[in-house]
Amino acid sequence: MPEGPEIRRAADSLEAAIQGKPITDAWFAFPQLKAYEPTLVGQTVTHIETRGKALLTHFSGGLTLYSHNQLYGVWRVVKAGEQPDTQRVLRVRLQTAEKAILLYSASDIEMLTPEQLTTHPFLQRVGPDVLDKKLTAEQVRERLLATSFRNRQFSGLLLDQAFLAGLGNYLRVEILWECELAATHKASELTEAQLDRLSHALLDIPRLSYAARGKVDDSKHHGALFRFKVFHREGEKCERCGGIIERKMMSSRPFYWCPGCQT
Ligand SMILES: [Zn+2]
Repeated sequence: MPEGPEIRRAADSLEAAIQGKPITDAWFAFPQLKAYEPTLVGQTVTHIETRGKALLTHFSGGLTLYSHNQLYGVWRVVKAGEQPDTQRVLRVRLQTAEKAILLYSASDIEMLTPEQLTTHPFLQRVGPDVLDKKLTAEQVRERLLATSFRNRQFSGLLLDQAFLAGLGNYLRVEILWECELAATHKASELTEAQLDRLSHALLDIPRLSYAARGKVDDSKHHGALFRFKVFHREGEKCERCGGIIERKMMSSRPFYWCPGCQT
């Protein structure tokens, strides 16, 4: 299951392929989107925004294509005119003179006006994205202390896209290890110093993972930009305290932690 950094990198590669280039051909599988095909020709994709697992493809004419990949949707970049050999069902094709981006299998696809963008049910529910550079640690701290989040255990809270978008299972366990926190804690129980540390880690760790551009190094070599301290490391020694890393299911996902220093 991809998490924020992987989804943002996928959006980066789509942007690299077609951003700012006039669309020469637009094709949608769903009948309700067909009417937009001629509208988009000649327009450009200005940028692609990620909100958790949702992608917002913004067009120069003001419309936005909303797509949520759920479990099966996948984007591909191909040369213009190329038809990949695949069993997947094509849903969207946006082509420029040189490249095309293709969306397969996703079923959750809509075209939104600027007004619909502000009232879309999923987008209203989802929290700010941890990879959005405008989001600050102070804002995250306020969110941790908000009535709806302050009394929820971190094991579940950190997977809830309504709290912050872009976090997933490996980020959840790595952030809590970084902050020396057990999964059963709640923001309302933390000291000021712990709150500070957590609000920074909630942004720093996803951003470090993103900046490492997928070069997640599972080995213990020096110089790795981002590597897992506890994720998939049950039975190994914690590099901070020497405790043995454990694994158990929490909020229906495997959770990894060091009982020696995460208290
Ligand atoms: Zn430890």
